Amino acid sequence: MKTKILVAIGLAVMLLSFSAAASMLIPANENARNNARAPEKSPVISETPTGEWELERVDFIHYAKPSSAAKPLRTDTCYKLMGVTWPSLPVSYAINPSNPDGLTEEFVTSAFALSAETWDAATSAELFNDAYTVDYTAAYGVQDYQNSVEFGSYGNANVIAVTSVWYTRVGRKIVEFDMLFNTGFAWGDASVNPALMDFQNIATHELGHTVGLADLYTSSCTAVTMYGYSTEGETSKRTLERSDVLGLQKMYGA
Ligand SMILES: [Zn+2]
Repeated sequence: MKTKILVAIGLAVMLLSFSAAASMLIPANENARNNARAPEKSPVISETPTGEWELERVDFIHYAKPSSAAKPLRTDTCYKLMGVTWPSLPVSYAINPSNPDGLTEEFVTSAFALSAETWDAATSAELFNDAYTVDYTAAYGVQDYQNSVEFGSYGNANVIAVTSVWYTRVGRKIVEFDMLFNTGFAWGDASVNPALMDFQNIATHELGHTVGLADLYTSSCTAVTMYGYSTEGETSKRTLERSDVLGLQKMYGA
């Protein structure tokens, strides 16, 4: 009986995610197993008979676009859930502060931690581990169950940043994120120099993806942090709007 129920859930999830990105089989190491342990009595993260997880990956590409004047929010519906969440919190991450803009390790790590704390403060859950790791070898795009943040070049000069999220096909639990800030842009503190791409501003947006929020592109949602475009000088995404908070709390509680 129990087996039949689990099979039914698996089929339903498979049908729902039929159009998602191509999946792949990844060995599930012990560390990741612990990190991604599903809560009791919930649909479990299933493994193949040989002890692997089937993972799917989604990439969020953040494009540059000159901003029109931000419109006031009229609705509470400017959020979109990816349908994937972390099975256990808080999330730890490793940040590689190396950059070509002369930004200090202190600037990069404290701005990023402030972005993480901005999301933390909007829910009772402790989303991100305050004790992050500084790792000058942390690299974007390697599926290794380490959440890695770095600066690096990206092929498309119009791409500000990209965040990749890996999750289990069955159970839809996040197991990893990686984040890249495109060195094609000049990064820094745009509240001091508006010609710069604001690091804290973009980091806050990208961190929204890492907890399960998708981009918004509709013109009525230009003011929210999860709006899909940014430009140099923008700092409005450093703080969350009501819709961002409502989306977050749908997943992790008020
Ligand atoms: Zn985005």
